[in-house]
Amino acid sequence: MTPPPSPLADRLARAITLAGPMSVAQFMAAANAHYYATRDPLGAGGDFTTAPEISQMFGELTGAWCTDLWDRAGRPAIAWVELGPGRGTLAPDAARAMAKAGLTPPMHFVETSPVLRAAQAQRIPDATWHDSVDTLPADRPLIVVANEFFDALPIRQLVKRDRWHERLVACQDTLFLPVAGKPVPDAVIPEPLRVAPPGAIIEACPDAVATMHALAGRIATQGGALLAIDYGYDGPLVGETLQAVRDHAPANPFDAPGEQDLTAHVDFTTLAAAAQAAGAVAWGPINQRELLGALGIDQRTAALARAAPDRADALIADRARLMDDMGTLFRALAVTAPGWPAPAAFA
Ligand code: SAH
Repeated sequence: MTPPPSPLADRLARAITLAGPMSVAQFMAAANAHYYATRDPLGAGGDFTTAPEISQMFGELTGAWCTDLWDRAGRPAIAWVELGPGRGTLAPDAARAMAKAGLTPPMHFVETSPVLRAAQAQRIPDATWHDSVDTLPADRPLIVVANEFFDALPIRQLVKRDRWHERLVACQDTLFLPVAGKPVPDAVIPEPLRVAPPGAIIEACPDAVATMHALAGRIATQGGALLAIDYGYDGPLVGETLQAVRDHAPANPFDAPGEQDLTAHVDFTTLAAAAQAAGAVAWGPINQRELLGALGIDQRTAALARAAPDRADALIADRARLMDDMGTLFRALAVTAPGWPAPAAFA
């Protein structure tokens, strides 16, 4: 037996050996909690690069979206919230754009990683941090931004054999591998998917749905809006989207728990339905390309290039990454309080 590769892998291997296979969600939650708690994974030197890390324009245009909505809602005293702010790159870019229009709200970050909280505090020292959305201010409208947050939350998987089974993670020596667990009642499976062929996998993200439901409920009663940007699909659908990224390359999601980033595509239909069920209005999803186009990325690229002609080529390349490469892969979902105006780019 080869020695276990890390303390977390060792702990999970023991847990599985002694108590039996664990759910994919439990495995993914433990792996990502360790992963984010122990490193800054973002940027060229890390495992993956996100839109706010590519260009300041992404945060600025997000800030412009917030400002426009706030302005048309009558300029109320809001709290600005970011879910999973990573290195804290988007927030100052958004804050700069918001301040230009007179919006300087208190900033609240929902972040569980101590390493990333420290990075965020370098950029926005007077932010308030939260472990979950439950402790966000309850006395004012919330304008919430979430880029690549929902995709990091743990998913459960169900696999079809003769019937549908919960997919579990087993362990052989130090190798983690997915296996079919106990059968689940058909009632758990969205009706159109029940007839899928053997081998089919479906996913669900209870944490994402619960977080969206809680936030949308706050927004519906307190006022405000939410902008979530992620890669995803109009679910529920058959297909496995759980993936691992390490050093900017795909990896086996069941290898090296806690040492690589685990994500799953977001089911936008189910998230929008959760927002509506909580009394809020859901908009989209639209492509990131449509969002940034409507918010004026071309004008912003041109303005920045005029101000710094030596950076013009880099700015044009950054714009292309956001609009061409990521532009159709990533999509944006908006949520607003009933009675709030239609959000820019969605109406
Ligand atoms: N929004 C940033 C970072 C995306 S990475 C960007 O676009 O660059 C995912 C972020 O969500 C990280 O900050 C991670 O620590 C945080 N995160 C992951 N799971 C979380 C959870 N369950 N609760 C709060 N934050 C979480």
